[in-house]
Order: sequence, then structure tokens, then C-alpha cells
Amino acid sequence: MRLTVIGCAGSFPGPDSPASAYLVEADGFRMLLDLGNGALGGLQRHAGLFDIDAICLSHLHGDHCLDMAAYWVARTYAPDGPRPRIPVYGPAGTADRLAGAQGTSLAQAMPPAFDFETLVPGASRIGPFKVTVGHVNHPVETFAFRIEHGGRALAYSADTGESDALVRLASGADLLLCEASFAEVPADAGAAPNPPDLHLTGRQAGQHAARAEVGELVLTHLVAWNDQAAVLAEAAGTFSGRLSLAASGRIFDLGSPGRGIQPTR
Ligand SMILES: [Zn+2]
Repeated sequence: MRLTVIGCAGSFPGPDSPASAYLVEADGFRMLLDLGNGALGGLQRHAGLFDIDAICLSHLHGDHCLDMAAYWVARTYAPDGPRPRIPVYGPAGTADRLAGAQGTSLAQAMPPAFDFETLVPGASRIGPFKVTVGHVNHPVETFAFRIEHGGRALAYSADTGESDALVRLASGADLLLCEASFAEVPADAGAAPNPPDLHLTGRQAGQHAARAEVGELVLTHLVAWNDQAAVLAEAAGTFSGRLSLAASGRIFDLGSPGRGIQPTR
């Protein structure tokens, strides 16, 4: 199983990365986790435009799904004819939201390109992957993911505040891709604390990784106005395992059991 970070910028595209999108591959099957603003461009550096077999959307905030409108255009108006439908798994209402984003008032405009499936908590099979999803704590319906293949497990937090469900989904995973959108607010700063049930700080991401006993923590959903070195340092204070920041283009090969994880760059 291979993970490629297409976009890891939080909330809006940053100077060095599109918004959220991750490519997960195994056995020649290519699945996207989220497709946020700008990610369709970056995707084409790592996969053919039409080589995607399935798409999972964690939630319907624009920074996680807006390039689905662009991808609908590409699949629908390809010069040699519309491309076959591919499955798109998302929260209830995904088809309507994406049709609205594209400016078509009819939800029917989307299904010729995509087969929409509504996510519900639990496990299912998508291509060669066992995919388990659960609700996490964010202002709209949001799913975190656990993806298993070949004895390896990858977990993805999506967007969330503190969440026991995330710890359960990530339990024992080889790699946890966890959001760290917020910077810690010093207690003596006099500033308002971070709001609950929205996002995690680096410290909180590290705590979730430690509780889940994951093998490696990769911080993502990195917001351009934060000091990323400080976010990483916060996480290092609460998680003692292998730790790094996501970056657009980073690739992680989750090898066979016992071989360890090989970050290829
Ligand atoms: Zn969100």
C-alpha cells in the first residue's frame, strides 16, 4: 500500500501545496481520499487524469471536495468521450453539493460521471482495501478512515476536534495521517482558547497518536499562517514515535509485515 500526499494545506491552498487530497494505491488500484481546492492539478504529477478507480470524501467543506467539480468536467468532456463512472463515497448530500459547486442546479448532472455511495460508520471493501469509517468531531458530518491492505493499516483523521472515535479507528495503525490545524494558545496570552470540536493542535494530534499506539504520525491539514516547526514541536512533546510533517509529493510505502515503512522521499 502506497500513500502519496497530493495536498496537505489546511483550510485553503498554501504556497507549496493544494488543499487536502491523498492518493492511496495497492494492487494497481488508485483511490483518492478527499479532493480539495487545487488538488486535481497536483494529482496529475502522480497519476493519469483518468486513472482513478474510487474517491472517498471525508466531508463536504470546500477544502476537501471542491476539485470534484473540476474532475467532473474532465471526466464528462474528455475529448474522446465521457469516461466510465467511478464510485464516490461521501456523506449524505454529496451529489447535490457537488452539482451546486459546479453551478448545475440539477443533482442529475453529476451521476453520469460518478456513482455516489453514502458513507455510514462501519467497514466495507473498496477495491483491494478494507475501509473502516467512523464519525469524528467537526461542525459538519465528517468521517475518519482506516484503510487496510496486505497486513498494513493507514488511518486518516480528516478534520476533527478531540475524538475517541479517531483513537479507536487508528488503533495500532502503521501510519496515522492526522490533522494539526490549530496552534496552541498559551494560557497566559489572554487570547481566546481554540474552539472545541473543530480541529486539533499538534499537541493533541500527538496525544491521539500516542493513545492509538500508531507506528508513525504524519501531521497534515497544515494551515499557511501557522509556524509549522512549532506545530511539529508540539506533537513531539506528546508522541515519541516517528513523526513528520506532510508535504505535497511525499510518498510513503507501507510494505509487507515486518519490513517497516519506507518513506521514499
Ligand atoms: Zn473541515
